[in-house]
Amino acid sequence: MRGERTCSIAITEPGAGSDAQGIRTRAQRSADGWVLDGSKHFISDGERSDFYLVSARTGDKAISMFMVDKGLPGLTVGKDQPMMGLRGTPHVELFFDYVPLEPLALLGAEGQGFKLAMGALNVVRLAQVGARAVGKACHVLELMTDCANERRQFGQKIGDFQMVQAMLADSVIDINAALLMVLHAAEMLGRVVDRGVQVFGGMGFCKDLAVERDYRDARIYRIFDGTSEIHRTVIARSRLKRGAALFDLHG
Ligand SMILES: Cc1cc2nc3c(=O)[nH]c(=O)nc-3n(C[C@H](O)[C@H](O)[C@H](O)COP(=O)(O)OP(=O)(O)OC[C@H]3O[C@@H](n4cnc5c(N)ncnc54)[C@H](O)[C@@H]3O)c2cc1C
Repeated sequence: MRGERTCSIAITEPGAGSDAQGIRTRAQRSADGWVLDGSKHFISDGERSDFYLVSARTGDKAISMFMVDKGLPGLTVGKDQPMMGLRGTPHVELFFDYVPLEPLALLGAEGQGFKLAMGALNVVRLAQVGARAVGKACHVLELMTDCANERRQFGQKIGDFQMVQAMLADSVIDINAALLMVLHAAEMLGRVVDRGVQVFGGMGFCKDLAVERDYRDARIYRIFDGTSEIHRTVIARSRLKRGAALFDLHG
C-alpha cells in the first residue's frame, strides 16, 4: 500500500483470455499452505514486478487469487513478448513449477478472489482504460494543433486550410463527447489518432514522431483489460439484470 513494491496482475493464459475462468493454472493445498502449478502470458511489467496477483483453480469450479513473490523457487519469468505498441513495457510469460505458497498468500476466501478481481477489472475498464483513451486523444490533439500552427505549405500555415481545421474540430467534438461517454472512449481514440497521423502527412508515418507511436499504441485499448466484445457482453448482462429501468449513464 505504500507503493514500495510493484505488482502485476496475472490472469491470462495461452488457452484462456476472454474466458478467464478457463484457466489451467492450479493451486493445491499442501502441508505448508499451497503449491502452484501452471503458466501465464502477456503479463504487463511482469519482468520488473516484485510480486504477482495470480488466478488459479483451487477446485473444479473455484478460482482463487494468490499473492506470489517473484523470488520463490519454481517461479520463472519467461521471454518478453514484443508487441505492436506499448514497447516501453515488457509483457512476459510466467511459469509456475510447483511453487510453494504460504497459507497467507491466498487473497480473500478460497474461490472468492476471482470474483473480487473481476469486479475490480470492471471498474478499471471504465475508469482507467476510458480515461486513458481520453487523455491520449487530448495529447494527440495538442500535437496536431501545434503542427497545424507551425507547418507551412503553399505559403501559409496548414491550419489555415479548412480541411485541416475540420480534422481539429472533429477531434475536439469527439473528445468532448467521449468525456461524457467514457464507455466509447477506446473507439474514439482510434479515430483521433488516425486523423493525428493524417494532419502530419508523411511525417506522421515516420518513426521520429510521437504521433506514430500513439497510432500503434492506440490499438491495444480495444483488447486489454477485456476486449470491446467482452465489454459489450458485460453491458448487456448488466442491462438485462436491471430490467426495464430508464436509461442512465451506466447504460
Ligand atoms: C499489451 C497487452 C497487455 C496485457 N496485459 C495483461 C496483464 O497484465 N495481465 C493479464 O492477465 N493479461 C494481460 N493481457 C491479456 C489480455 O487481457 C487479453 O489479451 C484479452 O483479455 C483478450 O484475450 P485473448 O488475447 O486470449 O483473446 P481471445 O479471448 O482469444 O479473443 C479473440 C477474439 O474473440 C472475441 N471473443 C472471445 N470471447 C467472446 C465472447 N464471449 N463474445 C464475443 N466475442 C468474443 C474477442 O473479443 C476477440 O475479438 C494483455 C494483453 C496485451 C496484448
